[in-house]
Amino acid sequence: MWPFKKRSPANAPGTLPHTSPGTSLSSPSSSLSLPLFFTNTLSGRKEQFASLKPGIATMYSCGFTVYSQAHIGNIRPYIFSDLIARTLEADGYHVRRVINITDVGHLVSDADEGEDKMEMGAKREGTTAEEIASRYTNLFLQDLKQMNMNLDEILFPRATHYIQEQIAMAKTLEQKGYTYRTSDGIYFDTSKFPDYGKLGGISDEALKQGSAETIHDQIALAGRTRLKEHTSEKRNPADFALWKFSPRTTKRQQEWSSPWGLGFPGWHLECSAMVRALLGDTIDIHTGGIDHIPVHHNNEIAQSEGVLGHPFVHYWMHCAFLTIDGQKISKSIGNTIYLSDITERGYHPLALRYFFLQAHYSSSLSFTWEAFAGASEALQRLWRLAANVQHESKGEAKQSGKILECQKKFIRLMHDDLATPQGVAYLWEILRDEDLSPKEKNAFLQTAEAHLGLSLLAPPESARKRKPEELPDDIQDLVRDREKARRVQDYAKSDTLREKLKNRGYLVEDSPTGPLLTLISKN
Ligand code: AMP
Ligand code: ZN
Repeated sequence: MWPFKKRSPANAPGTLPHTSPGTSLSSPSSSLSLPLFFTNTLSGRKEQFASLKPGIATMYSCGFTVYSQAHIGNIRPYIFSDLIARTLEADGYHVRRVINITDVGHLVSDADEGEDKMEMGAKREGTTAEEIASRYTNLFLQDLKQMNMNLDEILFPRATHYIQEQIAMAKTLEQKGYTYRTSDGIYFDTSKFPDYGKLGGISDEALKQGSAETIHDQIALAGRTRLKEHTSEKRNPADFALWKFSPRTTKRQQEWSSPWGLGFPGWHLECSAMVRALLGDTIDIHTGGIDHIPVHHNNEIAQSEGVLGHPFVHYWMHCAFLTIDGQKISKSIGNTIYLSDITERGYHPLALRYFFLQAHYSSSLSFTWEAFAGASEALQRLWRLAANVQHESKGEAKQSGKILECQKKFIRLMHDDLATPQGVAYLWEILRDEDLSPKEKNAFLQTAEAHLGLSLLAPPESARKRKPEELPDDIQDLVRDREKARRVQDYAKSDTLREKLKNRGYLVEDSPTGPLLTLISKN
């Protein structure tokens, strides 16, 4: 059963008269009716979004390969797809979302060479591929949950549960003459698919001639790597495996019988099969990291459109890398940082979400602990302002003409291809605006939270003002000494003690009921 959200009558979708050749597209009329634009990798341009079916948007995000723990770079594309989903939902769409779990067939090289990552993980940890898959799927889902993603609204299908669908697709491609056999598998002949490489404007010809400067360096690099790994039995460098035969000499843990013999599906096929099984022949949005553009997504297009004979995705959207020292965070480079490293250092997991939002999804983002600590402090300050709004407005929101204009301005930013850095900057501006009442600010916070997912309506405990007696003994001693100094008007000493408290991570404020403290950073 699909985990559908109930829609409130206030944002019941209608139909806009927006059409494109061959298909009728529509977008719901949300209360504010502001046009929504996303950059489509297929055209390389910002395009106005309209869904295939009125009021429903379908989105598939290429998932994580569960052979080890997801690093923070792996998490970025899912926060990106979460932002898309939130924006669509705030606009009145039902969003049917799938993030697949890759638990078979992803080889060390995306060019269908090398060991299967799942078998590699199983060997490393002396257990079964099944056990590895469930261990790292659980950790991955926990990470996403900690990042404020509502997992109940998303399907997480596993590739191994869709083997028959993958075999059926490969069979259709074989019947249509797209495939050939080599000594190690059934391959897709890309020369039979004239549009091959249309995503990202990558044709193998362009890559061979070194004329790929027009596309992102990292994308071109991935494409060139594939050319280098061209095995002699492939008819064309870009050809890819639909089905790989089990090796004769060693026994694989994961293998299935098929019309071509015992083996396992090629990695790319799982997404084509699961999109079709769970969302339909043509979907609205397909997302992934930019590394998926040259190989994985061009392969998905070739397979799916080879079977269907028509486009299978309307909007392809891609998220740039999280880097360290100019290099992509990656297990193979060994520069990984995990969400658990972040929380073990005492940071709130949502500080990572805030860190991501400070950059546009299409820009690569450099992680340093220093920059991250800055983001964490900013979020704590934002939460304190939001907590004050909740307190002063008594949780009530007031819609006024003035705040409606502010909400529109914010939504326009989010509708402009998810301009999160500007959206977050505008949120700060609103919270600091002394001409807006707490109730108006609360109305704005509801709009901002719907889009950003930063827990602004229920700021975590850390943003709460505390009485000294709730804090550790040594902090209480400092507060008591400061009170004594203030009573005898020794302001120099009281300021020194305030500084000491600040160095211990607490901001002290004097209120009519005595001193109140807020945690401003971890100790
Ligand atoms: P994989 O399990 O390798 O298929 O990766 C899962 C997702 O993480 C894919 O969408 C990749 O594009 C993405 N990804 C991997 N490394 C990074 C990184 N350093 N920054 C952003 N996305 C990444
Ligand atoms: Zn995929």
